[in-house]
Amino acid sequence: MSKRRTRIVATLGPATDTPAMLRAILEAGVDVVRINFSHGTAEEHLARIARLREASRELKMPVAVLGDLPGPKLRVRMTGERLLTIGQELVFSRGEKALTEGDLVITEPEILDDLAVGHRILLDDGRLQLETARITPERVFARVTVGGKLLPNKGVNLPDTPLTFPAMTDRDRQAIAVAAQGKVDWLALSFVRKASAADDMRAEMRKHFFDAPILAKLERPEAVEHAKAIIAAFDGIMVARGDLGVEIPLECVPTAQKKMIALALQAGKPVITATDMLDSMRQNPRPTRAEAGDVANAIYDGTDAVMLSGETAVGLYPVESVACMNRIAIEAESHLREVDRPIAGPVEHVRSIDDHITQTVVELAAKIGADAIITPTTTGRTARLIARHRPPIAIIAPVPSETILRRMMLVWGVQPVLREESKQAGEDRVSAALKASFDAGAVVEGQRVILLSGNPVHGGAHLPTIRFVRVGARGTPEEP
Ligand code: ATP
Ligand code: MG
Ligand code: MG
Repeated sequence: MSKRRTRIVATLGPATDTPAMLRAILEAGVDVVRINFSHGTAEEHLARIARLREASRELKMPVAVLGDLPGPKLRVRMTGERLLTIGQELVFSRGEKALTEGDLVITEPEILDDLAVGHRILLDDGRLQLETARITPERVFARVTVGGKLLPNKGVNLPDTPLTFPAMTDRDRQAIAVAAQGKVDWLALSFVRKASAADDMRAEMRKHFFDAPILAKLERPEAVEHAKAIIAAFDGIMVARGDLGVEIPLECVPTAQKKMIALALQAGKPVITATDMLDSMRQNPRPTRAEAGDVANAIYDGTDAVMLSGETAVGLYPVESVACMNRIAIEAESHLREVDRPIAGPVEHVRSIDDHITQTVVELAAKIGADAIITPTTTGRTARLIARHRPPIAIIAPVPSETILRRMMLVWGVQPVLREESKQAGEDRVSAALKASFDAGAVVEGQRVILLSGNPVHGGAHLPTIRFVRVGARGTPEEP
């Protein structure tokens, strides 16, 4: 078992496309790779997924693939790069094509209809800023207020413009087809504004007979406001700070991050904290002190996973970035108890019987000094409910399939192991779970473990059962 319990998500891109580089970042500690459908072609995405599966098999390291749908995001269409200087006037064509050479074009050009003079146009997560100066039937003229280098396909945000977007665009529907073909383990949607987006997404996935769990990327003011309902509708969230920091005032992002992580913990659903975590490592082998603090603080907030974007997609130091994140995470999580914030209890957040039982198991494990908690699970839910309390001991989840096993790679601290489905009615699933954990090397003889099972007897009734045992020589349960 790796010592680290916080998960590391790494975005794949040109910088990590060779098999050697891919293996190197997995060995440095990547648990989940992100395929960003906003960049590159379907062929590139499928080739990346195939390379990843191959490397994961070779190294015998389970890795989940997270597909990331663009959502209704505006991006600049252009070739080559451009240097924007303060005061310069830029021209956007209001259509699919540039009317004059040099005009910029954006995806979803009809959105320019909602723009008014004075509205800000922010580019590349707000690094570059423009102000709308003049609007004609065919063009929008904007003046640069904050300059810099503009690269193709960078995002466009219109924080002053009221937008009426559907939850998904045709590009998302095409990307869902690719995600289904590549059998991604998790699928995220950008710019979610309300809970109903989950239904739209699942309906589209069903057309491809595809049922991966879904993540909402929270990066719009409406999403922060409706976070609780969105978390209830989705299977997890990403705090997508890149766009969030443009769509709401930058100074509100840290508080929003804490609030959203706390809500995800209460719901027992995984949360990824994303964007710019070690951004300076795109160019440098070492991060800034502030970046190291950012990673650690997200872990203190209770995030399940921390994410690398450009650092591993296009950066110069992908392996160093992962290795560095790994070290920061191990150090930070060893102090989780001292900080004593991310624990999802106390009882006020507890609603169902399962909430009570899992919280009790975590408390009991601490009181009797158990070495591990083992919880056989079909969907991963019980393991997630235990993990949200961030117990300092191993959480082992015997799961019925490779698919569920990979999904668990996004959840803080859970070590999934494969178990055989019992074939005989009446088989003791608690002992079977212990044996599976022992065979996988997750527990060793002499350890004292707590077992929790909702269905202790195969084919029997739902009779939640807690058992305390010592691991015997062949993974058999002995008196503690
Ligand atoms: P999102 O809003 O979904 O995060 P993004 O444009 O910010 O989209 P990231 O995945 O965060 O994209 O990556 C950061 C930057 O790295 C991108 O803006 C892009 O310049 C570059 N990048 C990422 N993935 C790729 C890729 N597959 N091919 C080329 N460049 C990429
Ligand atoms: Mg980004
Ligand atoms: Mg984004």
